[in-house]
Amino acid sequence: GVGVKTFEPAIKWKELTTNFDGLVPVVVQDYKSREVLMVAYMNEDAYLHTLKSGRMTYYSRSRKQQWIKGETSGHFQYVKELTADCDKDTILARVSQVGAACHTGSRSCFFNEIVKKEYDPSNPLMVFEEVLGVIKDRKVHPKEGSYTNYLFDKGIDKILKKLGEEATEIVIAAKNPNANEIKYEIADFLYHMMVLMVEKGVSWEEIIEELDKR
Ligand code: AMP
Ligand code: ZN
Ligand code: ZN
Ligand code: ZN
Repeated sequence: GVGVKTFEPAIKWKELTTNFDGLVPVVVQDYKSREVLMVAYMNEDAYLHTLKSGRMTYYSRSRKQQWIKGETSGHFQYVKELTADCDKDTILARVSQVGAACHTGSRSCFFNEIVKKEYDPSNPLMVFEEVLGVIKDRKVHPKEGSYTNYLFDKGIDKILKKLGEEATEIVIAAKNPNANEIKYEIADFLYHMMVLMVEKGVSWEEIIEELDKR
């Protein structure tokens, strides 16, 4: 189709057939958020069907049959990008996921936490998306006592005034020997900036796209 590039030969099927039952693990990721959704296996038939149909197709080891993800649930996975690893025996698939990847109804299969260190390695952009999402939601569903709603009610001039003040506070904090201050001020600034983004209908995607172009 239009805009689709394929690179062959991508997978060493001949060697895999003798060494690993001809199966390749496939790590499946949401193409936008990069969330890891699931892991499944492909044999060569499932792989060729995936390339041909644009829908992720696997080989079920338990049912011993080809399986188009979503064929019963409707939760199809549309191929956006397929990449083989260094030795061409594993596939990373970036997909557009309809509904949930997991048969339990969870978006991702990976919810059984085993180890979790204090540090949260979540993608900073996801945190921004989340905060922006809460701010957007406040606009649609105002909440009693919400500072965000107070800003929206006061209007754009109030938001701009606060943003200017917060910018000035960053400058002052940067000259303050207490290293923590700047952290708080930048967080305050970013929050007010996101309120402005919602007010003006600007998305993080558009901003990242613009930065990426430069
Ligand atoms: P689906 O492909 O979503 O229509 O689901 C059909 C069947 O495939 C389910 O009943 C499960 O047995 C299996 N299945 C679907 N998604 C997963 C998954 N993420 N991991 C393991 N098995 C799955
Ligand atoms: Zn490697
Ligand atoms: Zn490998
Ligand atoms: Zn699952």
